[in-house]
Amino acid sequence: MLKPSVIRSLIASVLIATQVAPLAVAQNQLPAMGDGADMTAGAERRIGERIVRELYRDPDYIDDPILGEYVQRIWQALLAGARARGELPPELDERFAWEILLGRDGSVNAFALPGGYLGLHLGLIGVVNSRDELASVLAHELTHVTQRHISRLMTQQNRQAPWMVGALILAALAASKSPEMANAVLTGGQALAAQNQLNFSRDMEREADRIGFGVMTQAGFEPSGFVTMFEKLQQASRLNDNGSFPYLRSHPLTTERIADMQSRVPMTGSPMGPQEPTMEHAMVAARARVLSYPGVDLLRAWSTEPELAGFASLSAPRRAAVLYTAALAAERLREYGRAIALVRRLLALTTGNAQASRQARLLAVDIALAANNLPLASSLMETLGSGPSLARPELLQLAQLRTREGRPELAIDSLQTWVATHPLDAAAWQALSAAYRDQNQVLRAVRAEGEVQMAHLDYAGAVDRFKAARALSVKGSLLPADHIEASIIDTRLRLAESRLREQALER
Ligand SMILES: [Zn+2]
Repeated sequence: MLKPSVIRSLIASVLIATQVAPLAVAQNQLPAMGDGADMTAGAERRIGERIVRELYRDPDYIDDPILGEYVQRIWQALLAGARARGELPPELDERFAWEILLGRDGSVNAFALPGGYLGLHLGLIGVVNSRDELASVLAHELTHVTQRHISRLMTQQNRQAPWMVGALILAALAASKSPEMANAVLTGGQALAAQNQLNFSRDMEREADRIGFGVMTQAGFEPSGFVTMFEKLQQASRLNDNGSFPYLRSHPLTTERIADMQSRVPMTGSPMGPQEPTMEHAMVAARARVLSYPGVDLLRAWSTEPELAGFASLSAPRRAAVLYTAALAAERLREYGRAIALVRRLLALTTGNAQASRQARLLAVDIALAANNLPLASSLMETLGSGPSLARPELLQLAQLRTREGRPELAIDSLQTWVATHPLDAAAWQALSAAYRDQNQVLRAVRAEGEVQMAHLDYAGAVDRFKAARALSVKGSLLPADHIEASIIDTRLRLAESRLREQALER
């Protein structure tokens, strides 16, 4: 959640800019966007970067490697599906970020941002019953981006400076997350105006449904996921559950949309009903629920749920979800003995199901690390594999474990290999920085800190770190290997400075 002070300053920027922007634009010869000409992909991407730079700093932003990987697998399949159907023009494919930012928020929401960024609340992951349901929402949002709905909305913003469009979207996001807070800093009319700037037209919504459905089925997801997700939204809409389903506010279920959906997926007469989730999905959804700030009382209740009478009669996926929830809740409550006992039951239950048992082991390592039980974490890690083929969750756990064991050299190679192919992975750079520091390789540690800032588009922060690294390299007597590092730092500093200048010019 953005802090009230941040919202207030965003809104102030918007209101001031509303009065001065047209003149400023004319004087500075910024590219005009209101001539009916489409915004270029590059201009849209820059607005998106402005927005996500703020979102990365929002305390709600969460880079959870397990949830991130789960969402990423669905997202990459959808992008491939969109390419295969010719719905993703090569220029957008190349220029846009295609990145999903997770927010800790427990409400059900997903939203497309300019430049190929998407926001996804953990609350949505927590309520879907299958990958297919999640895919149906992501495919819809993806289509808003590929069909340039966002640039069309922004083009309607009449010649506003790009930074201001970004501020407006941030303000509307904040208002949609917390109407009470928005009301405290905005009059009702202003809040509504900010919100309406973000709303797509009915035609755009129907197009996103139609093309999104084609993309998700092309990608191999079950059409039934589209139907059951719709039913879930309809049910929430009947209950008037707009508080926990902000998605419904931006995506009203009009009769046209429902009719369109029914013509696409003929009802077979057999009610879909609540689908049984796979064991892996049930565990991932459970994780999303626990990580979305549920409050201590709920964590306490969840952590004892496996002791309740009905537990034994639940299906295996439901039992896995209850155990996962209880173990992670106990970890959050720092009741490590109980968390370890619970995760052992989960490990036993998931034996024989490769994906589910991997999820159980990843959770077990997390709990062992939180409990500072390094021998247990190490023995569990061995069952998760090693070497250069490690997936991201395992890689980051291994780095944390080896650094805390005082053997960072055992993780540095894998991390270096990873950042060479994933240069914008802030968490991997952060882990690398900690490992270098432990080895007293201060120069490299400080440069890695600069790369963390680069990945989060904070160029002022990156310049600061790269300058600090350069000062170290000038002062200290360098090892031969450090000379190479020093020249890399120079190059990175120049890049960060030039990005910072570009940013200042956009104002
Ligand atoms: Zn939509």
